[in-house]
Amino acid sequence: MIASLRHGLQRLRHPRRYAFLRQLLARQAMAPDVLRTYQRRALMDIVRHAASRVPYYQRHLADPRDWDGRIESLPILGKEDVRAHLEDMLDRQANRARVGIGHTGGSTGQPLAFWYDDAKHELMRAGMMRGFMMSGWRPGQKVLYLWGARQDVGKGGVFGQRLTDAIAGERTIAALEYAEDRLADWARLIRRWRPTLLYGYASALAELARYIDDQDLAMPASLIGVYSTAEVLDESQRALMRQAFGCRVFNQYGCREVPNIAWECRHGGLHVMSDLVWLESVCMQGEDRLLVTSLSNRLMPFIRYDLGDSGRLLPAGPCPCGIPFPRMEMGLCRRNDLIRMPDGRRLHPAVFNRLLYGLTQIRQYQWVQTAPQCMQLNLVCPERLSPDLEARLRNDLARAGDPGLRLELRYVDHIPRTAAGKHRFVIGLD
Ligand SMILES: [Zn+2]
Repeated sequence: MIASLRHGLQRLRHPRRYAFLRQLLARQAMAPDVLRTYQRRALMDIVRHAASRVPYYQRHLADPRDWDGRIESLPILGKEDVRAHLEDMLDRQANRARVGIGHTGGSTGQPLAFWYDDAKHELMRAGMMRGFMMSGWRPGQKVLYLWGARQDVGKGGVFGQRLTDAIAGERTIAALEYAEDRLADWARLIRRWRPTLLYGYASALAELARYIDDQDLAMPASLIGVYSTAEVLDESQRALMRQAFGCRVFNQYGCREVPNIAWECRHGGLHVMSDLVWLESVCMQGEDRLLVTSLSNRLMPFIRYDLGDSGRLLPAGPCPCGIPFPRMEMGLCRRNDLIRMPDGRRLHPAVFNRLLYGLTQIRQYQWVQTAPQCMQLNLVCPERLSPDLEARLRNDLARAGDPGLRLELRYVDHIPRTAAGKHRFVIGLD
């Protein structure tokens, strides 16, 4: 199907998404000072909304009429707060029949649940479209997602589409395990289906790039960009992808609960989407910690949310791309090492983290591969897991990882951090 026809059909299918996209593109055309005024008003609005309608914030924010407008005076929201108060973080007037619970943390650590609805989903998709357009991509052109686990893709993909959908112009491939035959399938799919963009975990894209480079495969000329997300993209991975895919590599920063935080432009600027978020960099425990406030999420406000990432905001100034959004720089963190299975497959650490989704009683955990056939799970939780739950974990591990893989559970008081102060959630054999 040609891209222009697909674009027309998509507009009919997703009127709300395209309405959001029009608003987002209009804001991208604002002058920087107009945009800053818009952002400040949106911040005031979301704080007032949270203080009046969201039980958690009713308790934690002082009367917004007394608020001096300085975001620094508001409390920081940690992931542990979200875990402990999920129920109280939902807008009191939300229509519960239309609200869903999403899960995240698969690639980066502790499982976390969040509320979402159709409007949040459609705005997220529109924000992704605007971000993709910074590469030269146009709505209707094809995107291949390397994302999620087999079970997500099986039940309709991480974004809720069928696996193959001609109108969507999207395909999702489960990219958490990397065996040579699967990498060969993916490379073949790219050559045959000829997407315009690839989007996926840095580690998945780097693994595929390594295969393509080793096999000396030519990539289609249709490919204009590769988007790396959810993990730190280091310079060696970027160079490998550029070489293998033969196109530009872009970094993207965001998470499921607060998407579209920053997108890289064609000039290498990582632009903070300041109409959607208020991003701060605050010195905490010796690092520049990023705190994000979603300016659009009224269903479940996130105000000064500590994502556990580090980075800094760059001084204001024009970027050659002409986009008014300010720029930032990511710190180094969230690097994932792949875990090698006895049968030779390499698994993304998210495979292990996902096994703990929904187990909110776990305060901290760490998977450690102590032998090729053994995964040790260190847990910090107030009470031991029930025998049923332990048995379920053993089964799930064998199914997701390798049938011969043993689970060794250890209950501990705390889990030490690495020298850099980072918590590593999955540690493989070197
Ligand atoms: Zn730029």
